[in-house]
Amino acid sequence: MEKVIIIRYSEIHLKGKNRGYFERVLILNMEKALKGIKHEIKRTSGRYLVEGFEEFQTEEILSKLKKVFGIHSLSVALKVNTAMNEIYSAAKDVSFDKGSFKVVTHRADKSFNLNSMQISAEIGGRLLSCYKNLKVDVHNPSFTVNIDVREDGTTLVFNEFLKGAGGMPVGTSGKGLLLISGGIDSPVAGHMIAKRGMQVDGIHFHSYPYTNMQARDKVIELAEVLSRYEGGMKLYIVSVTHIQEEIHKRCNGEYMVTLLRRFMMRIAERVGKSNGAQCLITGESLGQVASQTIEGMTSSNSVINNLPVLRPLCGFDKDEIIERSRDMGAFEISIRPYEDCCTVFLPKHPVIKPALSNVLEEESKLDIETLIDEALNSLEVLSL
Ligand code: ATP
Ligand code: MG
Repeated sequence: MEKVIIIRYSEIHLKGKNRGYFERVLILNMEKALKGIKHEIKRTSGRYLVEGFEEFQTEEILSKLKKVFGIHSLSVALKVNTAMNEIYSAAKDVSFDKGSFKVVTHRADKSFNLNSMQISAEIGGRLLSCYKNLKVDVHNPSFTVNIDVREDGTTLVFNEFLKGAGGMPVGTSGKGLLLISGGIDSPVAGHMIAKRGMQVDGIHFHSYPYTNMQARDKVIELAEVLSRYEGGMKLYIVSVTHIQEEIHKRCNGEYMVTLLRRFMMRIAERVGKSNGAQCLITGESLGQVASQTIEGMTSSNSVINNLPVLRPLCGFDKDEIIERSRDMGAFEISIRPYEDCCTVFLPKHPVIKPALSNVLEEESKLDIETLIDEALNSLEVLSL
């Protein structure tokens, strides 16, 4: 009897001819997640088995695999030879000695001499005579004994289906660059897009020394949380300090956020383009704050020439975003107080619906290309 973990995958089966490719990427991502932990991943029809690990590492393996996109559900199971006495002893191991239960059997091996109903009845009967305080309840049992008779002469016995991260394996939907701040929203936006199978790298803009090192560390930590769902990511860090000083010196202060956002988008597009990104991703949600009106988005979109901008949170309320932030494990980091660069030189009354003509007029007071080149000279790359 061996302890194994069953991995069932999600939408992959929908992909027809691409199935092999999706499966290979998923295996690769599972291997990345389990790097350094002794294990073996085996493919059986329609699922994977993680085997050969040390029992004390079961929880660690589970928590890592729960972050791998493309996995629909997981079960910790006992693997035995397909013989009634072995199946029974595994069933006994996963059972409680009191309460109510049911036995559910799936039989892929049609050559086994009992059918699934007979197996359930036999195992259920033996459990009842072993544990006097057990009773059967097929509608609302306190636990379930699942028996999965495989084609290869082995049977898997388990209690629970644990929820996987869902989505598609990261790497099957291209590559994008996330504008990541220290806030709640952008990590969630990155998580959503990575869930659809995209490799998401991050770019962060800071205004050191107006912003401090803790603000930077916070963003790195947020990116690390995201990177655990992706098996690693790159984080580009760029200083916009001088850009902000120039805007502050030369332009109408009400346009600070609007103008700065346009610089961020331009720089992100250049960094993205030269690193293989096929889109930019932001954490904007329509109308959530002054700079996220449709006019604000129009203003920042109009500087982008070659990449689509994905804004997955556009239709979400703040409380929905917070729930996702908690689920992905980013919330407690996001709410730390350190400010990011958007609050430096923040005007009392930022323009809420910037007319593009006014934006262009303010921007014409700046040497855009030189400022961008200068900012790009500060580029740092971290591999997380
Ligand atoms: P967030 O919670 O992601 O910071 P927010 O509600 O605070 O979002 P804004 O600060 O207006 O909204 O930022 C909108 C989006 O612009 C962010 O979601 C992010 O994608 C991008 N952004 C803002 N500031 C930065 C920054 N310093 N570096 C990189 N991207 C940024
Ligand atoms: Mg913010």
